[in-house]
Amino acid sequence: MRRIILLTVLLTNLAFASVKVDTTYSTAGAVAQKIGGDLVHVTVLGSPKYDPHFIVPKPSLISKLRRADLLIINGGGLELGWLPPLLRAANNAKIQNGAKGFLDMSHFVHMIDVPASISRAFGDVHAQGNPHYTTDPYVIVPMAKAIAQKLSQIDPQHQKSYEANLKKFTNEWQTYLNKLDAKMLTCKDKKVVQYHELFNYFLKRYNYKIYGTIEPLPGIAPSSKHTIELINIMRENGVKKILQDVYHERKTAQFIAAKTGAKVLIIPHDLGADGSKTLQEFYNKIANRICQ
Ligand SMILES: [Zn+2]
Repeated sequence: MRRIILLTVLLTNLAFASVKVDTTYSTAGAVAQKIGGDLVHVTVLGSPKYDPHFIVPKPSLISKLRRADLLIINGGGLELGWLPPLLRAANNAKIQNGAKGFLDMSHFVHMIDVPASISRAFGDVHAQGNPHYTTDPYVIVPMAKAIAQKLSQIDPQHQKSYEANLKKFTNEWQTYLNKLDAKMLTCKDKKVVQYHELFNYFLKRYNYKIYGTIEPLPGIAPSSKHTIELINIMRENGVKKILQDVYHERKTAQFIAAKTGAKVLIIPHDLGADGSKTLQEFYNKIANRICQ
């Protein structure tokens, strides 16, 4: 009997040995998996098929948050529309904002398009700046470092493993970045418009010129007045690429394409949005579609 109890205790300990990491989005989840390896169990809360500003707050997400040892958020306001009530409902002291098990990745990234004064006037969902920094493959390195540091704090007995994983991963990533940079040097047409300001970080990294967005303001649906203005800008400047994400309606982009002779390119905003399974596949898809 005692043996059975001991075995049960042992198995229970083994089952709970890994650090339970929740990430709000899939790209951060993939980085956490690279750094944590077998020592972590990663759960991605927000499906990459949907608008990252408005993930549907399903009750199942509350139980996932309740069990987590570490919560990694994108920050920069991207989760403001869905995460706070779930966090309150989960009532897990370990992962509240400011607790040891809470990591806001935006603190490790240089945010762009930050407005002079913070306001959500007119429904702008980018009141704290542009939160879509994970479209830049270069931010993967500071993200990986921040995650390795945090995992080492939460689970200090495995610090050496996290550091070794970080070293291996950042070396691999640098090799990949060199290849990607070489490919991006071959791109010819660098004029684009996009539906939402999802790709600013990638476009800025590779010197693209953005001539406007289909949305009049981030988070605001297209209007006919704004669409006509955008068509005129595209015609005047010879813009032939419309970057469309996987979750917004496509009719407006198709209408603009018909009027301007531009191409609608479907670009993933997060790992898995269009079936990519690895970080490299995700960035290759962005690069291959934008660089034509
Ligand atoms: Zn946005």
